[in-house]
Amino acid sequence: MTARDPYLLTPGPATTSPETKAAMLRDWGSWDGDFKAITARVRARLLAVAEADDSYTCVPIQGSGTFAVEAALGTLVPRTGRALVLANGAYGKRAAETLARIGREYDLYTTDESTPPDPVEVDRILISDPSISHVLLVHCETTSGILNPLEPIARIVSARGRALILDAMSTFGALPIPTATLDLCAVIASANKCLEGVPGVGFVIARKSDLKAALGNAHSLSLDVADQWAYMEKTGQWRYTPPTHVIAALDTALDQHAAEGGTPGRGARYSANHRAIVDGLRGLGIEPLIPDALQSPIIVTFRCPDDPNFAFQPFYDRLKAEGFIIYPGKMTAAETFRIGCLGVLTPQIMGDVVSAVARVLDDLGVAHRRAA
Ligand SMILES: *Cc1c(COP(=O)(O)O)cnc(C)c1O
Repeated sequence: MTARDPYLLTPGPATTSPETKAAMLRDWGSWDGDFKAITARVRARLLAVAEADDSYTCVPIQGSGTFAVEAALGTLVPRTGRALVLANGAYGKRAAETLARIGREYDLYTTDESTPPDPVEVDRILISDPSISHVLLVHCETTSGILNPLEPIARIVSARGRALILDAMSTFGALPIPTATLDLCAVIASANKCLEGVPGVGFVIARKSDLKAALGNAHSLSLDVADQWAYMEKTGQWRYTPPTHVIAALDTALDQHAAEGGTPGRGARYSANHRAIVDGLRGLGIEPLIPDALQSPIIVTFRCPDDPNFAFQPFYDRLKAEGFIIYPGKMTAAETFRIGCLGVLTPQIMGDVVSAVARVLDDLGVAHRRAA
């Protein structure tokens, strides 16, 4: 093993900075004014990252990102509503499964894992079915790394008078999300992806008027965004125990996000990471699955080398011994693995990953091209 902790080249939880980890070395009283101030500051900063105006608010929800998605869907889609889910991977499918579990009507518009939803088709569906009240779009479908067309779909949904709920879990903080300009109904994300915080909290950015109207909608007590919001506004506190250390770490992670130049700065570093890993692995003959034009800079799916000596688990184990934790593929169509470009990674580290991959392939007896 290497002396340092391995780098996480995963879709999150991601590698965090020493400062972010150090922010957790203190205990906070959930009722205390100091912690309330941190909660208020984090909420305000997340709103700013989302480019939301005063008509919006940010409501944190304890748990992983999936809890926040379930909370948002259950709170914002009324029991009499109907959602259109745009699915081209596991997270779109999970949103649909969530709607089924919580008893909300929905339609699925599914495309292939390497095909984005067609805005023209979305428009056609919305015109043909006036009962659709909400549309759910996954910004970057982390299954493959494909970037779905937020702007054109948001404009269509808004023009048709429907509400767009955006799962921005794997883009928030790295790619621009002009919430107010695009008239988004809700944006959902979590602390531990591009914001480079630690896992344990998600959040929903939504209009105050929508939340007010949604009081009483939710299928669940603990996953009620409107109730959490109302209580937080009244008391400055969370309903039920907050993940205090996670929020303190997120506050520190947001300092670093700002110091890096906010979303444009972070996005630029991830893009440089992305270029370094794609160019480097291409040099070894390992190709990304998604065409470059559709690919997000957040996470990349690569085709496994077509060689009888290649198997994912020994490849994974040897890379881990070199200090790099990669991620298995989640595509149904092809044998793949994934490399995340998020977290406190740099193009230099991505270059080290490429060198380690070349050594591991040699070790496994897998033929590959030599880097120039
Ligand atoms: C990670 C992710 C989720 C789920 O988040 P968890 O923290 O794993 O529950 C949902 N949607 C997208 C697009 C994601 O990348």
